[in-house]
Amino acid sequence: MAETIIHPDLQGSLPLIARGKVRDLYEVNDKTLLFVATDRISAYDVVMANGIPTKGLLLTLATRAWFKILKDALPSLRTHFITLDLPPQIPAPLRPALQNRSMQVRRLKVFPIEAIVRGYITGSAWKEYQKSGTVHGIPVAPGLEESEAFPDGPLYTPSTKAKQGEHDENIHPDQAAAIVGEPYASTIASLSVQLYKAAHAYALERNLIIADTKFEFGLDEETNEVILVDEVLTPDSSRFWPKEKYVVGQAQESFDKQVLRDWLVESGLKGKEGIQMPDEIIQNTGEIYQEAFKRVTSEL
Ligand code: ATP
Ligand code: MG
Repeated sequence: MAETIIHPDLQGSLPLIARGKVRDLYEVNDKTLLFVATDRISAYDVVMANGIPTKGLLLTLATRAWFKILKDALPSLRTHFITLDLPPQIPAPLRPALQNRSMQVRRLKVFPIEAIVRGYITGSAWKEYQKSGTVHGIPVAPGLEESEAFPDGPLYTPSTKAKQGEHDENIHPDQAAAIVGEPYASTIASLSVQLYKAAHAYALERNLIIADTKFEFGLDEETNEVILVDEVLTPDSSRFWPKEKYVVGQAQESFDKQVLRDWLVESGLKGKEGIQMPDEIIQNTGEIYQEAFKRVTSEL
């Protein structure tokens, strides 16, 4: 089995500036970060003690592939991606473990919202709709069934970006606009929906339904442009459904960490810290991440 990298050690070659649930961010210089995707996995906002081998590689290469696909569809798009090449500061012995799980990106101020787009009604949106007929407070056509596509097209349904240990909260687009201000709010909303539509069409041809996904954006303070940042269209940030199994009116099997979530709930471990996943869960989750990646790209 491939090596699992939970806490990459750069041996002080670059300063660590932030550690997310999955990624470690290092400073290359004042304009550039090294964005390292580890094999860590979180569920219910808690990071597991062990990891999924090669997950960080898949996340990095999938994001890279999607940036290209999205730029082809929307040529004016700007992303934070610079290169998959490692910066010269990284010593030779450390490079193999970091290659392809790291990207150099532009260091930007990230807007503090998660730009979620939903094409289909499921998850927390389905729960809210059943209670109130709305999704993130937006009134939606009556009579929808679980997992049905929104009849008027995908919805921009942002959430707050919670600090570590807290949970993101679904909000109405007007609340997101109050957080980030105009003209950024409108740009983020329309760009997110355009990106979702392009990705959805591309994936559908490859038998993958992108039910929903989350984007993040940063600001280029010199040009005032809104830039697509973070990871994109990975199983960590999206709900992927195999097209051949899609049936309206029920929950769908999905290519994400549902296997892990179900195991945590069944074993009464949901929300607990320091959990060791058993081999079977690691294996099954790894295969699901691979499958989602393979449908989109023939790489790996
Ligand atoms: P968080 O750490 O915010 O709880 P997370 O667990 O999803 O979120 P990771 O995905 O592990 O975090 O780490 C990525 C972090 O880097 C996110 O906080 C994201 O907002 C931030 N980020 C993404 N792109 C950039 C960028 N170009 N410049 C600065 N920060 C970025
Ligand atoms: Mg993240």
